[in-house]
Order: sequence, then structure tokens, then C-alpha cells
Amino acid sequence: MFWNEQLETIERKALEKLQLEKLRKALAAAATTPFYKKVFADNGVDVSRITTLDHLRDLPLTTKHDLRLSYPDGMVAVPRTEIVRLHASSGTTGKSTVIFYTAKDLADWADLIARSMMATGTTRNDVFQNMMGYGLFTGGLGLHYGAERLGCLVIPSSTGNSLKQIELMKDFGTTVVHITPSYAMHLADVVSENGINPPDLGIKKAYLGAEPYSEGVKKKIEGQWGLDAYNSYGLSEMNGPGVAFECEYKNGMHLWEDYYIMEIINPDTGERLPDGEEGELVLTHINREAMPIIRYRTRDLTRIIPEKCACGRTHRRIERIKGRTDDMLIVGGVNVFPSQIETVLMNVPEVGNNYQIVLDRHNNLDRIHVRVELYNKMFEGDIKALDALRKKIVERLKALITVNPKVELLEPGSLPPSMGKAVRVIDKREI
Ligand code: ADP
Ligand code: ZN
Repeated sequence: MFWNEQLETIERKALEKLQLEKLRKALAAAATTPFYKKVFADNGVDVSRITTLDHLRDLPLTTKHDLRLSYPDGMVAVPRTEIVRLHASSGTTGKSTVIFYTAKDLADWADLIARSMMATGTTRNDVFQNMMGYGLFTGGLGLHYGAERLGCLVIPSSTGNSLKQIELMKDFGTTVVHITPSYAMHLADVVSENGINPPDLGIKKAYLGAEPYSEGVKKKIEGQWGLDAYNSYGLSEMNGPGVAFECEYKNGMHLWEDYYIMEIINPDTGERLPDGEEGELVLTHINREAMPIIRYRTRDLTRIIPEKCACGRTHRRIERIKGRTDDMLIVGGVNVFPSQIETVLMNVPEVGNNYQIVLDRHNNLDRIHVRVELYNKMFEGDIKALDALRKKIVERLKALITVNPKVELLEPGSLPPSMGKAVRVIDKREI
């Protein structure tokens, strides 16, 4: 199902032509902002000479640090009176950054969300419960207006208050939810504790995003709730959610290339990598009046899936985000992403819904302590079985990291549940 078939299945040549037109407009607008005026001058960039998409690689990259430097409005390209809203990033990695929108920017964003939701088969007949935080965070309002645009009945329930969430699901027949993967697993437990089998609630689809998660977690949530889970990717610097979304085939996320130009770079050298190779995603927003951002380093690691998607959309897909360049852990000299540890854990059927990775240093040596919740029934059996399970997890983790991990098995509910973005890693090492 298409929201805008012509744009979604546009031929690559025509898409690239459209991208170039929009890029030139975005660059001209950027050149009027205090931040880019200086950056372009310092780097000898004359935006009028950018006449092919390939020239983009000659432009400097923009980082999160640059956004902080230009705080609050050094990247704004329109008069203050044209701006109708601001959002701020959740500040996962430091002081938050602020993003501004004109009325057209918001309308276009809603349109993109409507497109994304329809690509998963959602229609105006659906009841959409949005369990992402409303407020400065983009996850709440972002999907909200898109779902209204599509014509769904929208329940803006935001995060937390699990019993109320369940009551709303029951009373209004929710069919589609937007939720973080960590909260989806926690909520399934709460539903079960209240004597309800989660699939009986009749939820058909979940949009899972806002934090990195593994294929194993996705499968687990699909099984717990009896629904189809779709990966949803976005970041506040690029509006928020809706940058890339899985279609009905659930096989990588279409990155909407009429709004964003994507590149994959080697995070160490900044050099552009060919399609299919894994690296850091760099995005240029070519569809925002208030705040054009050029070649933004997302710090998210992924790769472009070059093959065509069976749905007929021509916008290329990206693979599930492996992690962020800045959340890579170096444990005993070995690079490891929390998502790799999660994959190991999720492949163990006895493992429940929550886990935590604690790092510290003893006598100058790194230590890793993995705390995992198991299902209740595991604690009804004998100690030997538990110990065998613990050893199995230790062995599997050792294949990933050279340091001997300490694994602690916990009863469900032992770790703090997360409503918003999960905090999985606690690094107590002194830098
Ligand atoms: P921040 O967390 O940097 O303060 P945001 O709230 O805008 O700012 O979060 C955006 C980030 O969330 C992305 O850059 C990415 O790391 C993560 N993210 C969002 N959606 C997904 C997803 N589907 N899979 C993995 N990571 C995601
Ligand atoms: Zn598709």
C-alpha cells in the first residue's frame, strides 16, 4: 500500500534529479546561517559550484559538537517568526541539541510518517497507541501528527503508567503501537501478571525504535505479543522518527531519499564507502526550511542494502543499526557493541526480558559483569540446571570478548524496567 506511489516508486534517475534540486536549495539556505557561513568560508566552499550529487563529498561533515557550538540558533535559516516548534534530542550523550521547524516542515514530516505507516499496511481503520514520550523528545509528537494525517484514531498515551496503557488497549481496541523495544518487553510482563495473554489484546503491529536492539529482541516481542514488529529509525537532527522505516516485507528500512541524502563513511577516516559496506551513516536533510543540516554524522553504524525491495519502492534500505560509534565498548582491548552481547543473550531461550552490562576495572584490568533476567520457571528447577545455564552464557560471551565475563542470573523484575530509552550499560571504569 502506498501513501504517495509516484514518489515512493520514482525511478532512480528522477529521484536523483529531485535530490540535486533540493540539495542546491538546502545549501543555498544553509549558506545564510551563521554556522555554515563560517564553515563554508573556512573551507573555501562555494555552494553555487555544487552541481552534481557527487560534489556533496567535497563538503565538510557536521557533527553533534557543531550543533552544540551553534546552540541555540546558529543553524537557523528562516526569520524567528517563521518557526513554529522546537524539539530537543534526548541528550543520551551529553547536552541536548535543539531543532527548529516551520509549519511546512511539520506538515512535511507528518506526511513522511503517514507514508511510513502506510508502508507497513496501517490505514485509517487502525487505532494507534503512541507509547513514546511526548514533549521535547521527537518520538511522541512526531508519530502523532503522522498517524492523524493518515487518519488513524490516535491515543497519545505517552510512556509509563502500564496499567493505564493496558486499559486503553482493551477499551479502544488498539491495533498498532509505537514503543521502545525495552518497554514492549516489560509491558508484556505486566500484561501477563494481570492475567491477560498479551496476544488476546489483539495488537497487530508494533513500531519499534529510538534505541538499538537486536533481531532476537524483535523476534521475542513478536512472539510475546503475537504481532508484526517494524523497525523505525530516526534522530532529532533529521526531524525525528520517519527517516527510515520497514515496509511490509520487514527486511531493512527504506530511507526516504527524497527527504534525506545518505552516505556511508569510514568513521575513522571520513572516507565514503561503497553501497553494501558497513560504516557510519551520514545524512543531509534536503527537506527542511528552518534548519538545513549538511552531511550530519549520525554516529550510527549500518550499511546500505543495495538490492531492490520486493515492495517496489525505489528508496534504498538500510540494515538494522548495529550500534553507535560512541557506544562501542572496549573491554580488555577488544571492541564490542552492546548489540552483540544482546544477540548472544537473546539466542538463549531461557533468557527473559531485561539485562544489564556493568564494566569496571580492577588492578588495571577490565572486568565485565553481565546481569540477566530469566523466566520465572527457571528458578523452580534445580541449582545444577541454573549453573549449567550460567556456564553456557559465559562460554558464548567468551567467544565475543577475551575477558572472562561474570554472569549473574536474576529473577524477572530484578533490574529497573525502562519506559523510555533503555540504559543497558553501566561503565564504572575511570577514564
Ligand atoms: P540522542 O539519543 O542522540 O540524544 P535522539 O533522541 O534523536 O537523540 O536519538 C536518536 C538516536 O537513537 C539515533 O541516532 C540512534 O542511535 C537511536 N535510534 C533511533 N531509532 C533506532 C532504531 N530503530 N534502531 C537503532 N537505534 C535507533
Ligand atoms: Zn520495501
